[in-house]
Amino acid sequence: MIVVMNSKATQEQLDQVQARLKEWGFEIHLSKGVERVVIGAIGEKKPVVIQSLEAMEGVEKVVPILQPYKLAGREFHPEATLVKAGPVVFGGEKMVVIAGPCAVENEEQIITTAQAVKAAGASMLRGGAFKPRTSPYAFQGLEEKGLKMLAAAREATGLPFVTEVVNPRDVETVVEYADMLQIGARNMQNFTLLREVGKARKPVLLKRGLSATIEEWLMAAEYIMSEGNYDVVLCERGIRTFETATRNTFDVSAIPLIKRLSHLPIIADPSHAGGKRYLVEPLALAAIAAGADGLMMEVHPQPDQALSDGPQSITPAEFGEIIKRLRPVTEAVGRRL
Ligand code: PEP
Ligand code: MN
Repeated sequence: MIVVMNSKATQEQLDQVQARLKEWGFEIHLSKGVERVVIGAIGEKKPVVIQSLEAMEGVEKVVPILQPYKLAGREFHPEATLVKAGPVVFGGEKMVVIAGPCAVENEEQIITTAQAVKAAGASMLRGGAFKPRTSPYAFQGLEEKGLKMLAAAREATGLPFVTEVVNPRDVETVVEYADMLQIGARNMQNFTLLREVGKARKPVLLKRGLSATIEEWLMAAEYIMSEGNYDVVLCERGIRTFETATRNTFDVSAIPLIKRLSHLPIIADPSHAGGKRYLVEPLALAAIAAGADGLMMEVHPQPDQALSDGPQSITPAEFGEIIKRLRPVTEAVGRRL
């Protein structure tokens, strides 16, 4: 439930309300607005609790949270949340552009790509070291060696990086290197993994599951947040439909919907959504126009030789051109690249 303090409430009254909530076993999340303080209280609410709280000095009203995703929902936290990953901020006026190869293949590949995408305007690097491939026979990633290469690319360019973690056992290792942990679409409902990254002190990029509803996706965010990690950024990457002309169907409506239902930032991945190089630009434009807080694009120096996702990967030069064409739309919606 939400306890809204009145605008004249004193610090002492606020302390008393918090103490009472703690006595009753609620977990407290304070949100201090310009006008008033709002206390989010998570726990079992009984009618008597609401009544006694409403009778306390300084309390304006008590509102139950109806959304099943208590921590991820707008009801609980009406203002948009900013999530920091190293020097990068998601959810602000500046759009976050993440770029890099699907998978880290060797040090030269990741460093040259990092330099090129940085020069073209990316603010964060991506690259998979643990790859969740559909086939067990496909390239599975360089694992810790890949993480070291990503760290070398960060060293060379100053770009922070996001990389996927697939197994709860690897969370500790990935946390040591990465600036942000990615949960891939195939693992969106791997609840053990979600809890594990929820205990980590690193921001999480949570991709939408292949066939996940908006509610299931937000409940996955809730798993992470319920372990104490509130730094979650959502990523729309297309969902499975009957259509086979595209790799997935880009659900553009998910962006404004998530913005309405949740306070968490949301970015879009036009590469995995369309699965085709020539769809990256139009889907990126649509995502920005719909209000996305950022983009993640797969960029490879030689897409035709990529060990994974070559058909949807663009070259650094194409990436640079796309960024230029995204600028006017970004500005038209009051953001900047
Ligand atoms: C990826 O980002 O390379 C990836 C595997 O994406 P998804 O989990 O969205 O398929
Ligand atoms: Mn990929």
